[in-house]
Amino acid sequence: MMTDVIIIGGGPAGCAAALGLNRLGYRVVLCDQAKFPRDKVCGEFISPAADPILQRLGVLDRIEALSPKRLKGVAISSYEGEEVVIDYPQQPGMDARPTSLSVSRYELDAIFMEQVKQVGVEVREQHKVTEFLFAEGRVIGVRGWDENKTSFTLKAPLVIDAGGRNALSLKKMGLKKESAGNIKIAMAAHWQGAQIADDYCYMHVSHPGYTGISSVGKDRANVVLVVNRQSMHGEKPDRFYTDAVMRNCHRRKILQDAECIESVRAIESLAFSVKPVTCGGLLLVGDAMGFIDPFTGEGIYLSLRSSEIAVEVADKAFKKSDWSNEVLKDYEVRRRQEFDKKFLLSRILQKLIYSRFFCDRVVRALKRKPELAEILVGVIGDLSPAQSAVSFKFLLRLMSA
Ligand SMILES: Cc1cc2nc3c(=O)[nH]c(=O)nc-3n(C[C@H](O)[C@H](O)[C@H](O)COP(=O)(O)OP(=O)(O)OC[C@H]3O[C@@H](n4cnc5c(N)ncnc54)[C@H](O)[C@@H]3O)c2cc1C
Repeated sequence: MMTDVIIIGGGPAGCAAALGLNRLGYRVVLCDQAKFPRDKVCGEFISPAADPILQRLGVLDRIEALSPKRLKGVAISSYEGEEVVIDYPQQPGMDARPTSLSVSRYELDAIFMEQVKQVGVEVREQHKVTEFLFAEGRVIGVRGWDENKTSFTLKAPLVIDAGGRNALSLKKMGLKKESAGNIKIAMAAHWQGAQIADDYCYMHVSHPGYTGISSVGKDRANVVLVVNRQSMHGEKPDRFYTDAVMRNCHRRKILQDAECIESVRAIESLAFSVKPVTCGGLLLVGDAMGFIDPFTGEGIYLSLRSSEIAVEVADKAFKKSDWSNEVLKDYEVRRRQEFDKKFLLSRILQKLIYSRFFCDRVVRALKRKPELAEILVGVIGDLSPAQSAVSFKFLLRLMSA
């Protein structure tokens, strides 16, 4: 059977692309080097704006069947001082305020994968793609190794790389543009018995980094710590993580009677952007198209949304039987239009939170001016356009409040 599209990676981006293309009648083969279910270091909350996408992909009911936690917004504290609690803003035409899903990646990614298999996409787990095949300057397939270390080759007019932050295209084509700054490392584990006051994602910023704490149901809380790697001074993640987490008074209050119930998983977490692909036959979606610092917790939404755009552009390419870069670069234009300001906001927030002076000031301003807080959380929750918060006027109002 001929394959129309090969997808590398079965995370949210790869599965969303597979489901979208399958719905349009394309024959898709999805390869992932892992065997599912598999875990993933993540804050595990999904922007409220992802709900309609999850519905369109046919996975929302399955997620809801897990009775997941729904978070009302975010609570941010600055250097063990002031804390501001912000609800997602009311949306026109909706009775209740939006909420964000909080669900473990182990379960979420397994649901995506089940759905992909159920609709009839050919899934090849434990298939690691190691090379692209080219003809006339265009990607026309992939080569790799399966679980028995047997080589495989697949050909298709279009390859979608959804391989995440270490995607093959980034390595093979040198597309990654690392942000200037120190290497960040994220460490995560689930805790049992945390005293979480309410259904919010609690972001606590202090030295040596920030944490995101939220309930993922079943009396479990996900605690993610992000620090500059150099602050670890070579210490082992398990020991460093617990010490650093418990050094902050707000976190201690939440976690003092809780138990960390798994070994700490660590991942490098430096934000990066990606240069445009210059050959035909290839699209990059999800983290492979750029990684935003996890402070704003938008990665899953951006992954799903980038795949939706990629599916539309791929459909146009198939209709024209033209998979050249000329046609596919429309994806690049659209993704930049939609995401560039979000990446910029994330970079601005990074600058602000790593300075105690600015972080204190911002938290105080958000407390004093709830309308500014709602705008910011609306953007972070992908409910409002990024330009509402990425403007000189907004920043001026924030810093002068
Ligand atoms: C510390 C941290 C906290 C975060 N918190 C949040 C949060 O709270 N909310 C949020 O929305 N986002 C968060 N994110 C971001 C989110 O995790 C990512 O944006 C999201 O997982 C991206 O999905 P993806 O499908 O692009 O990649 P991934 O989920 O990384 O999936 C990529 C898949 O590709 C496979 N793969 C890779 N290379 C190959 C290959 N060569 N051959 C075959 N298979 C391959 C991998 O096995 C993997 O299954 C966080 C990220 C970090 C690091």
